Order: sequence, then C-alpha cells, then structure tokens
Amino acid sequence: MPIDPKAPYDPNNIFAKILRGEIPCTKVYEDEWAFAFEDINPQAEVHTLVLPKGAYVSWDDFSANASNAEIAGLVRAVGLVAREKGLVEPGYRLLANVGENGGQEVPHLHVHIFGGQRLGRMIA
Ligand code: 5GP
Repeated sequence: MPIDPKAPYDPNNIFAKILRGEIPCTKVYEDEWAFAFEDINPQAEVHTLVLPKGAYVSWDDFSANASNAEIAGLVRAVGLVAREKGLVEPGYRLLANVGENGGQEVPHLHVHIFGGQRLGRMIA
C-alpha cells in the first residue's frame, strides 16, 4: 500500500521497530546518523537499505526538515556501505521511492542500494 510522503511520522512503522531493535534484521552498518540492513526480499544480488535514525517519512520530509548533519550523515553512510560492499568499481544503483507513484511502502525514509550484478536500464 503506497504511503503519503507528507503524512505525520508513524512511530510504529516496521522500520521504526527495526531501529528500536523490536524486530530482527541482518544489520550491515550503524553510526550516530544512520542504520543499514539487508532487504528481506532482495531484488538484486546486493540489496541493502540505509535509513536515517531520525523520524522522517520520506525523501520529501527529510530533504525539507532534516538538519545538515542528519543529511550529511545519511549520505556518507550510503557511500560507506557501498564502498564496504565492494560496489564502487563494478558500479551500483541508489533508489529512494517516494509516495504513490514512487511505490513507497514503508513510511520511514530508506535508500535502496542495488548491486552485485548488471542492472537493467532505470525503471521498469
Ligand atoms: P519501498 O517500496 O518502501 O521503497 O521499499 C520497502 C522495502 O522494505 C522493500 O524492498 C521490502 O522488501 C523491504 N522490507 C519490508 N519489510 C521489511 C522487513 O521487515 N525487514 C527487512 N529487512 N526489509 C523489509
């Protein structure tokens, strides 16, 4: 069910529960600003999700309301995870779904990292 990218943050969304440790995940990385784990239903050989720790519904919410430190923290974490997974030389793809047309299902901002294989052109 696509979400409203401007709706108030729901503290009981599934990624909020993962961030609080209430639901298990395969953790890849964590620092002050960001948390990364493997997608439960991978769409590529590598499919990792990177989240800001702050309560942001979507890229729209985050880009409008997050502090510069939070934004830098998420961006650096995405780059670090991709580097640590050895994705830079072969290449990889980042994706953040927003709202209904974007097909966003979980209302806590997450950046998908896809890699480990040749990916198709852009969008289906
Ligand atoms: P969206 O469509 O919101 O951009 O992507 C949500 C992603 O979260 C999907 O790729 C889905 O497989 C993943 N996902 C949903 N629930 C869980 C979960 O409980 N654990 C993990 N690790 N991934 C999840």
